[in-house]
Amino acid sequence: MSHLRTIPVPALADNYIWLLADQSGKTLVVDPGEAAPVLAALQHEHLEPAAILLTHHHPDHIGGVAGILARYPSLPVVAPDDVRIDTATRTVRDGDRLTFEAPPASFEVLEIPGHTRSHIAFFGAGVVFAGDTLFSVGCGRMFEGTPAQMLASLDRLAALPDDTLLCCGHEYTLANCTFALTVDPDNAALGRRAVAVREMRARGEPTLPVPLRVERSINPFLRVDAPALRDAAARALGSDEASDRVARFAWLRHAKDGFRAA
Ligand SMILES: [Zn+2]
Repeated sequence: MSHLRTIPVPALADNYIWLLADQSGKTLVVDPGEAAPVLAALQHEHLEPAAILLTHHHPDHIGGVAGILARYPSLPVVAPDDVRIDTATRTVRDGDRLTFEAPPASFEVLEIPGHTRSHIAFFGAGVVFAGDTLFSVGCGRMFEGTPAQMLASLDRLAALPDDTLLCCGHEYTLANCTFALTVDPDNAALGRRAVAVREMRARGEPTLPVPLRVERSINPFLRVDAPALRDAAARALGSDEASDRVARFAWLRHAKDGFRAA
């Protein structure tokens, strides 16, 4: 739906708070880790918030809710059912549908545990707000989930339509490309994305959103079944263990955890 704009608002060290705005200025605010940059962006762009959506309970995603509510006390706050989010006015679960008149947008709620146990995504209006589960060329850490859960969550996100724009919680793309090239070095599309991302970051531009069609061809965590990643896992784990896709994913996530760019 081209009449809606997605606006990434940089916050904290490397977070993005997402705004989804219609032409009249009615706006959804997703994962406000801080209030000040949201309030400044709303004022600067002449936008009026309609609701706050939260993907998970981490402070860098919800820390700005109270400050925004202080300015806009009647805003609905939609969140997963988790006692650690005490500002929610509506809790949602897998399969729930969330429809707004303004901005005109309807979302399906996907439960995608792994980064946290109650993490959700909002899919609709041509975008997916994926929080800290799927990043461009990477994925979130598994703080409260198993590799099998996290992989199943990534599989759900990867199965969304090609043109869906991935809106995630952090600008990690450049570092993610550096790691991805160590496990998928012959991937030409990944190489091109790495070059483009370096230039975008040098200009101070966000590397997001990005279509899932692109992500599926370059993100190693969505490519555990691709021959290149199978081969890389087999070299690290032996071919027996590497024949299991959850084992390949767990190896990849562990390798990323320990990775430091040279
Ligand atoms: Zn998080």
